[in-house]
Amino acid sequence: MASRTLRIGLIPGDGIGREVIPAGRRILEALPKSLGLSFSFVDLEAGFETFQKTGAALPEKTVDTLKQECDGALFGAVSSPTTPTKGYSSPIVALRKRLDLYANVRPVKSVKNTTMFPDPIDLVIVRENTEDLYVKEEKTYDTENGKVAEAIKRISERASSRIATMAGDIALRRQRVRDSTGQTGKSANVTITHKSNVLSQTDGLFRSTAREALAQAQFKGVTVDEQIVDSMVYKLFRQPETYDVIVAPNLYGDILSDGAAALVGSLGLVPSANVGEGFAIGEPCHGSAPDIQGQNIANPIATLRSVALMLEFLNEEKAAALIYKAVDANLEEGKYLSPDMGGQAKTTEVVEDILRRM
Ligand code: ATP
Ligand code: MG
Repeated sequence: MASRTLRIGLIPGDGIGREVIPAGRRILEALPKSLGLSFSFVDLEAGFETFQKTGAALPEKTVDTLKQECDGALFGAVSSPTTPTKGYSSPIVALRKRLDLYANVRPVKSVKNTTMFPDPIDLVIVRENTEDLYVKEEKTYDTENGKVAEAIKRISERASSRIATMAGDIALRRQRVRDSTGQTGKSANVTITHKSNVLSQTDGLFRSTAREALAQAQFKGVTVDEQIVDSMVYKLFRQPETYDVIVAPNLYGDILSDGAAALVGSLGLVPSANVGEGFAIGEPCHGSAPDIQGQNIANPIATLRSVALMLEFLNEEKAAALIYKAVDANLEEGKYLSPDMGGQAKTTEVVEDILRRM
C-alpha cells in the first residue's frame, strides 16, 4: 500500500491549549498502521505567553515552518489580555491571513445525550474568513451632533465564489460519507445566508456570486437554498436538524457558529478548521479557558474532532472517520465524560477511553 507521511505543526498556545493539543498528537499516533499513514511533528510557538517572553505573539519562525515544512497544523487556544496590550494582536487571526486560510469550517453534530433536541443535529457552517467587516477599516470623526464611527464591509466576487465552492465540495463529501455508511434520507444541501434585503450591494453580491458558483456542473447533486440571516437564527434554534451545509459571509458566520455550538451541549465538543488551498489548521472552538487550566479536566473532544476535520481536508477521510466514530462511541456510552459534560473523568481518561476504541 502506498504510504504517506504528513508533517504536522503543533501550536498549543495558552491555557488549556497546552493540555488538549498533546491529546491531538496522541490520537494521530494511534491511527492504525493499515491506513498507510504516518506523521511527523514539529512544536511551534504562538500566543500571549510567547508574546510576553519574546515580544511577538506569532514568531516568524512559526509562520515559516508551517509554510515550508508542514502539511497541516493543530492550534490550541490563545488567551486575550484583559486590558489592551500594546503590540499584541491575535496570532490565529494573523495566521489565517499569512497562510490565506480563507474558510473557517465548523461542524456541529449532536450525539445522543448531548443535546436537548429530539432529532439528531448534523450541520456544518462554512464561514468566509478574509473580508466583510473584518477588513477592519474603521474611522471616527466629529460632527456637530457628536462623534460618528464607520466601518467598511467589503465583499468580493473572488472570495464569495471560492467560499461557496468550498461549501459545495463539503456538501458532496458529506453525502459520500452518508452513502458509504448507509445513512439515507438527507440529500446534499447548501443554504446561502445573507441580508440582501437591507444590504443589496454587499450581501447582494455575496448571494448572487454564491448562487452562480453552486450552479456549476460539479454541484448538480447539491440542492441550494438561501435564507436571510435573522430568519436563519430562528430556524437554527427551532429546527437545527433541517440544515446540512450553511455558507455565510464573515460576520454572520462568526455569530451563527457560536450560536450553533450551544445547540450540542458544550464548547468542549465543537471543532473547527481553518482551510486554504492544500493546507488546514484544526482548532477547537473554545478559548484558553483560564478558569480550568492546569487541572487536567478540559474536554479534549473539540480538539480530537478538529484533528479529524484537518485530516478530511488533507484528503484522509478514512482516518478522520475512525476518530469521529471513536469519539461518538465515548459520548454515547457516557462512562468517561469530562466535568463540562456532567462527568468526572480527567482529560487524560477521556483520551485513553477514545484511544482504546480506535
Ligand atoms: P478566552 O479569552 O481564551 O476565550 P474564556 O475565559 O473566554 O477564554 P473560553 O475558553 O472561551 O474561556 O471558555 C468559556 C467557558 O467554557 C469557560 O467557563 C470554560 O471553562 C468553558 N470551556 C471552554 N472550553 C472547555 C473545554 N474544552 N472543556 C471544558 N470546559 C470548557
Ligand atoms: Mg472565550
